[in-house]
Amino acid sequence: MDKYEVLQRCFGYSSFRAGQEELIDGILSGRDVFGIMPTGGGKSICYQVPALLLPGITLVVSPLISLMRDQVMALRSAGVPAAYINSTLSGSQMQTVYRNLVAGKYKIVYVAPERLDYGGFGSIVERIDISFLAVDEAHCISQWGQDFRPSYLRIVQFIDSLSVRPVVGAFTATATDQVREDVERILKLRSPVRMVTGFDRPNLYFEVRKPQSKDAELIRLLTSRRSKSGIVYCATRKKVEEVCQLLLDRGYAATRYHAGLEEEERTENQEDFLYDRKTVMVATNAFGMGIDKSNVSFVIHYNMPKSIEAYYQEAGRAGRDGTDADCILLFSTNDVRTARFLIDNSSDNEELDEAQREAVRQQDLRRLDSMVGYCKTGDCLRGFLLEYFGQKHVAVCGNCGSCQTDLETVDITREAQMILSCVRRVSDRLGYYVGPAMIARVMQGSREKRLLELGLDDLSTYGLMKTMGRTAIRGMIDHLEAEGYLFTEQEHQTLRLTEKAGQVLFHGQQVTMRRKVEKEEEKAPTVVSVQKLDPQDADLFEVLRSLRGELAREAQMPAYMVFSNATLTDMARKKPRTMSEFWKVSGVGEIKANWYGRQFLERIGSFLAEQEG
Ligand code: ADP
Ligand code: MG
Repeated sequence: MDKYEVLQRCFGYSSFRAGQEELIDGILSGRDVFGIMPTGGGKSICYQVPALLLPGITLVVSPLISLMRDQVMALRSAGVPAAYINSTLSGSQMQTVYRNLVAGKYKIVYVAPERLDYGGFGSIVERIDISFLAVDEAHCISQWGQDFRPSYLRIVQFIDSLSVRPVVGAFTATATDQVREDVERILKLRSPVRMVTGFDRPNLYFEVRKPQSKDAELIRLLTSRRSKSGIVYCATRKKVEEVCQLLLDRGYAATRYHAGLEEEERTENQEDFLYDRKTVMVATNAFGMGIDKSNVSFVIHYNMPKSIEAYYQEAGRAGRDGTDADCILLFSTNDVRTARFLIDNSSDNEELDEAQREAVRQQDLRRLDSMVGYCKTGDCLRGFLLEYFGQKHVAVCGNCGSCQTDLETVDITREAQMILSCVRRVSDRLGYYVGPAMIARVMQGSREKRLLELGLDDLSTYGLMKTMGRTAIRGMIDHLEAEGYLFTEQEHQTLRLTEKAGQVLFHGQQVTMRRKVEKEEEKAPTVVSVQKLDPQDADLFEVLRSLRGELAREAQMPAYMVFSNATLTDMARKKPRTMSEFWKVSGVGEIKANWYGRQFLERIGSFLAEQEG
């Protein structure tokens, strides 16, 4: 097998995303690699594909032990022999894993950093052939990152202790230079293949709102997203408790996560969310690292986070499967105070001395400034984020709260006739042309002195647009000029009719204009690509979704692990009738096709038969 076959057969994807192939090629040719990709960019594939092609075992060091089981389950469901080693395994489970490991039964093994040099594992590493060591969430090794984990420093000792150094790969979504340097230096990467892919996530919609009442705003936002899965981030544990209670009172299937809860409850709540038993997770920033639930369709920040890094990482947990998702931040000036307080009182890192701590504090304050800047800017929000990460971008992304995305086409034929006829009547009366400002005043019925002196107030077009604002009228005049019905004479800056104007005035030619939709109470719920499906395809999607639910319950795994929403959407569009057509659906690999293909094909078949019958 080659990398393309692995990608297709195990993961069901037909092409690599930006950066993946270069990193994989690097690893396969024996080079160290350093992959910096945004959350949701597809870092896992970068070590999972080589793992299946290299002769020995791939170890993946990951910080969040509670998620390893899910990751391993997802791999196994794709037919990849995988296991994990962390403190949640019982003694006998651990022995089984070690035995299988030595017997060469696994290709990928996830290891918690603190287990690397721990008793049992330490004693068998020399009996296994480690081809590749992947360090996921590699920023955890840097004190400057937001998630410094001292246990990550053990990775270096571990590598040094091996008689044969494996290829080492580091992966992170953190883009700041300092963290990048730390990762390379501390992990001692050997002239790695570096890939920094674009940080843009086009399917994410960004918006900042400054509501009077955050509670009311949150409820409004959730009402139009009832059946969707999402995360609400709050700054403090207390706020998590309050907001979660608010949602429960309103009948939402909400759960909560913060560091003040018992380990057991945290795990349970997290799983409720992953398995879609609960749709809304209310959490502090303690929740989420390594979460790769692919169907999170919104991330709402009830409070402003402390930095753009944190915000982008948290917001980035939405829309991982590529379908449209919303990232909405509810801002109030109080948030700035809370964030400052949290920075000033952050739990002291005992590994830092006084001067270092102060340096960290100063840096945190600078980061906070940028975050506040994001909340206050009137410019393109995506542009602001990309700028922060040093990436080029277009001025207007068209998919954020600042860009005027909600445009509608309106018929302004009547208004156009009024304006054009006004221009004609004014020049008939005066014998010369006037500028656009005077035309707008006449239309509006202004009592301005010069207008009255000229007697323009007894024209039949005087005051025809009384109810309209000056800017709206000027907007239409500009539009008529852009469309070639009017032109501005350069010397006197006066507005004149063109020949084309006659078609509107005398032959009723239609004039349309694109303009911003007036903001209603709530913008229409996100157009998830599911809703972009034709009605018939959307029905089929629902059929497939309920089958997915049945299969997931049977197998006791989260629904998105059977197939992602993106995969079901593609399936509903392609409507495969045969196994070979089924394979062509994005996200369908060989193993999953074998496991689920027949059942999905049956449902699709009977759905189509009903439609046709
Ligand atoms: P992260 O970089 O945050 O670790 P993941 O590895 O969890 O991202 O991948 C995010 C999502 O993208 C997953 O649902 C994954 O299956 C999907 N994905 C990764 N690579 C590809 C690809 N080449 N084509 C289509 N989807 C992909
Ligand atoms: Mg990841």
